[in-house]
Amino acid sequence: MSRETVVLGAGMVGVSIAWHLARRGRSVLLVDRRPPGQETSYGNGGLIQREAVRPYAFPREPGKWLSALSNRRVDIRYRLGGILQFAGPLYDYWRHSAPRRYARIVPEYASLIALSTQEHAPMIEAAGAAHLIGKEGWLEVHRSHAELERRRDEAEDAARRFGVTHDLLDAGGLAQREPQLGAELAGAIHWTNSWSVSDPGALVAAYADSFRRQGGEFLQASVRRIRQQGEGWCIDSEAGRHEAREVVVALGPWAGEWLRGLGYRLPTFVKRGYHMHYGVAEARRLRHWIADADVGYILAPMRAGIRLTTGAELAPLDAPPRQGQLEAAERKARELYPALGERLDAQPWKGARPCLPDMKPVIGPAPRHKGLWLAFGHGHQGFTMGPVTGRLMAELMEGEPTAVDMAPFRADRF
Ligand SMILES: Cc1cc2nc3c(=O)[nH]c(=O)nc-3n(C[C@H](O)[C@H](O)[C@H](O)COP(=O)(O)OP(=O)(O)OC[C@H]3O[C@@H](n4cnc5c(N)ncnc54)[C@H](O)[C@@H]3O)c2cc1C
Repeated sequence: MSRETVVLGAGMVGVSIAWHLARRGRSVLLVDRRPPGQETSYGNGGLIQREAVRPYAFPREPGKWLSALSNRRVDIRYRLGGILQFAGPLYDYWRHSAPRRYARIVPEYASLIALSTQEHAPMIEAAGAAHLIGKEGWLEVHRSHAELERRRDEAEDAARRFGVTHDLLDAGGLAQREPQLGAELAGAIHWTNSWSVSDPGALVAAYADSFRRQGGEFLQASVRRIRQQGEGWCIDSEAGRHEAREVVVALGPWAGEWLRGLGYRLPTFVKRGYHMHYGVAEARRLRHWIADADVGYILAPMRAGIRLTTGAELAPLDAPPRQGQLEAAERKARELYPALGERLDAQPWKGARPCLPDMKPVIGPAPRHKGLWLAFGHGHQGFTMGPVTGRLMAELMEGEPTAVDMAPFRADRF
């Protein structure tokens, strides 16, 4: 049977698009080689980041560059293979991070972030997933007074321009809010209108169940080939052939490679990351998600244990894992949070943030193929921006007015 739409990729982005299309009454087949929400959308820090109006820029300070060269930092590591493979996109990323260009990107990025919690809310309700969501905000902890002050200024700007709320905490205020922290700290910014998710993969799975209850169909199968056929599309998967009028590519870190097969050379690259869960005595659990911001990792008190997520590793998508970055983060985490217990997972989890050089995702039609739609490149905040992406993509595909200007997210900007 020919369907109206096939969505490829059941991470937070693909599931959200499928959910919005099914809600509008389309017949939708969602395809993934794994169950929904088992890749990047499983292993992340679980923050719905209403505060993240400033995308993650390429560091421009020479001091940080030089210290990154030794490959011992916690927040950023690289491998020569990654630098060589992504040299072009990384150079563009550096250019887009220059102050004037970056200043233009911020309000565009913020137009998506501003709708993030608002767009998760109806999906959480429809999915019956409120038990997974915390609304206490999260703590961006600083060891350095100068960094705390710099971020305070940015927080005040974000409050004025984009409705982000926060409390500024000195060391005493922080100790009251989070008594288990041990290191010498300057204070923290408590981002109060961001949310946390105690099991990110389970939230995506719950959204996918809600999609099925709306009449959508999920198929677990690896996609092998997509090609245009007459007025529509033909998708070959290991489960057979599927025909559809329109196709959405929401393949996260794998999207760039797939699109090359259709003749698109988009400047995708990845920033890999790791996580590990740790035990902790119940009485000493963290009350909030904590970012050790001057060091560059997150501690997330999740259902499976305290999840430590690392910063970025510039390495080819499929290069074998390395342990050093996680080990370095763990040492700093034990200093910050002495109650952190034993490792709970046999191996660290490894994943990859799907990135584009101007820090913004692609959301919209493919430039040269009718009926092909693209949604990927959500970088550090795809878990946050999945639902707003779903809404906007459905609006575009249905020819409805969109909630925000979509020009900044067009694929033909590259
Ligand atoms: C360590 C780390 C921490 C992070 N923390 C946060 C955070 O706190 N907040 C936040 O907002 N974001 C965070 N992110 C970013 C966020 O996780 C990603 O941006 C987001 O999950 C991307 O979603 P996606 O749906 O585009 O990709 P994915 O979730 O990777 O989904 C893509 C899907 O495509 C499928 N696929 C690929 N190839 C095929 C094929 N051939 N056939 C069938 N299916 C295929 C995969 O199986 C996968 O399910 C973090 C990322 C990392 C790595």
